[in-house]
Amino acid sequence: MLIDTHCHINFSSFKDDADEVIQRSLGNDIWLINVGSQYSTSERTIKIAEKYDKGVYAVVGLHPIHLYETEVDESEQGIEFKSRTEEFDYDLYKNLAQSRKVVGIGEMGIDYFHMPKNINFEEVKQKQQQTFQNGIKLAKELDKPIIIHTRATKNSFDAYDDVINILKQADYTKGVVHCYGGNLEQAQELIDMGLYISFTGIVTFKNAKDLQKIVKEIPLGKMMVETDAPYLSPEPHRGQRNEPAYVEFVARKIAELKKVSYEEVAEVTTGIAREFFNI
Ligand SMILES: [Zn+2]
Repeated sequence: MLIDTHCHINFSSFKDDADEVIQRSLGNDIWLINVGSQYSTSERTIKIAEKYDKGVYAVVGLHPIHLYETEVDESEQGIEFKSRTEEFDYDLYKNLAQSRKVVGIGEMGIDYFHMPKNINFEEVKQKQQQTFQNGIKLAKELDKPIIIHTRATKNSFDAYDDVINILKQADYTKGVVHCYGGNLEQAQELIDMGLYISFTGIVTFKNAKDLQKIVKEIPLGKMMVETDAPYLSPEPHRGQRNEPAYVEFVARKIAELKKVSYEEVAEVTTGIAREFFNI
């Protein structure tokens, strides 16, 4: 058994076949955590999760790219969109989180990569940080874990430093840094603080040597696996639409890098995810 701890079956890429994709995943003994990125997709993730007795869960939150209108180009998957603008409404998200299917708050965090045009960097930074702090406050109040999105300025690790500082200030470490892309020192610091690190299909890419080194260095007992579907399909499906069933390729690559069995990676990461999300 595996748990895809981060996917977006609530996104429009799956509008015609979400249930088939979920059945395929559950049929392969893969549970999934379906993650919202704004109010509408958060609402949808709850609706989807409520259709299933077991194995499909929801996380609700506001992603930093939805604070401003931003062009997003995930061209490898043929996905391009303009993000819609939303202010984080604490009470609305608190309301959403009352569903028994909501097992966490997110995805929230910092994204200095997808920047809106014509807005001062400092202003965007301020707003992202403040929204992240509010999201943490909500998670704290509800005693739920957080899923953290972090994307740095090109060729930099700046967003990871800011995420670490904000978590320290907020004194909240019940979190997972999803789709890890920081450096080894930052990964170690996050782990020392009590957070988990999660890996996507990027670990299977030939050019991901730095990330593969991080997988080798950090303990298996601090990792989770995810797809971030529809994005970031692992090899051998790179370039196609991703789906939760493909999380197996991520776990197999981690097993290879850490020189342990696939079964061990499956057992350890599943155990961590079940405890972390209380499922
Ligand atoms: Zn995501």
